[in-house]
Amino acid sequence: MAAEILDGRRIAQAVRDDLNKQAQEAAARLGRRAGLAIVRVGDDPASLVYTSALLRTSEAVGVSATTVILADDVDPPGLSACIEALNADESVDGILMQLPLPPHLPQRIVAETIDPRKDVDGISLRSAGNLFLRFPSFVPSTTAAVLEILDRSQIRLPGRQAVVVGASNVVGKPLAFMLLHRDATVTITHIYTGDLAHWTRQADILAVAAGRPGLITGAMIKPGAAVIDVGITVRPDGAIEGDVDFASAVQVAGAITPVPGGVGQLTNLMLLKQTLVATTL
Ligand code: NAD
Repeated sequence: MAAEILDGRRIAQAVRDDLNKQAQEAAARLGRRAGLAIVRVGDDPASLVYTSALLRTSEAVGVSATTVILADDVDPPGLSACIEALNADESVDGILMQLPLPPHLPQRIVAETIDPRKDVDGISLRSAGNLFLRFPSFVPSTTAAVLEILDRSQIRLPGRQAVVVGASNVVGKPLAFMLLHRDATVTITHIYTGDLAHWTRQADILAVAAGRPGLITGAMIKPGAAVIDVGITVRPDGAIEGDVDFASAVQVAGAITPVPGGVGQLTNLMLLKQTLVATTL
């Protein structure tokens, strides 16, 4: 029997409705709309596409988003000064630094400078520490999107085997901690993991964030598992592919997110959700 499709677009609509209400409440409480500052270094075309999508989603939710664009050759003190100005700006509740930064700008500058109360994409040292220690924390929005899909689809976590494929700072590692803190038994795998299928076949919940199209096939999935495909690879023809071979996986899994139309639908909404939380801090 084919798996249930975890439809990111349908879930996103429900989340958007909830956030609309929260944004109205925040505006009434603050006397202004919640504010998100999006900071970008340079004019990379892919970043521009991402920013315009985020601006549209912000408008739909009722959050006032502004873009701050720094020159390609901004130096580390210039980047720090920009973030510090946004930290001090009372109309800014959340700050999103678009990553990756150019090689001459260490990401650590952002991780150390951004005010943890405005760190709505969970990249500061404080956010990472809070997550590790299971204190309330902002988390990377992609990982929040995965949990939102699992929760809204009533997929049970306590005591179940969760396997995360990918161990990056922005997706794999924080996601593994979030699943652990929801009482799943968690395995993290990565590019050096031998016999990946041995691990993935044990997963009741399989979350894949490797950036390798087709990495996970149906034969690597435990029958009935919930499969969350975080991967996004843009093919030369512009089509988007996930990390899971959907055609074979859908025959084995119990539930599965498509790509496109899955996790990616929720990521920006989670950033805005955390921005609305930031208005209360
Ligand atoms: P990354 O390159 O920083 O990390 C990839 C991780 O996957 C690494 O830990 C690596 O060891 C592991 N990996 C690579 N090849 C592997 C293999 N063959 N077997 C097992 N593990 C392997 O990437 P990232 O930033 O974590 O992003 C991962 C994917 O998620 C990308 O496709 C990215 O585009 C996507 N992504 C999606 C969203 C979204 O909103 N849906 C947001 C962020 C990232």
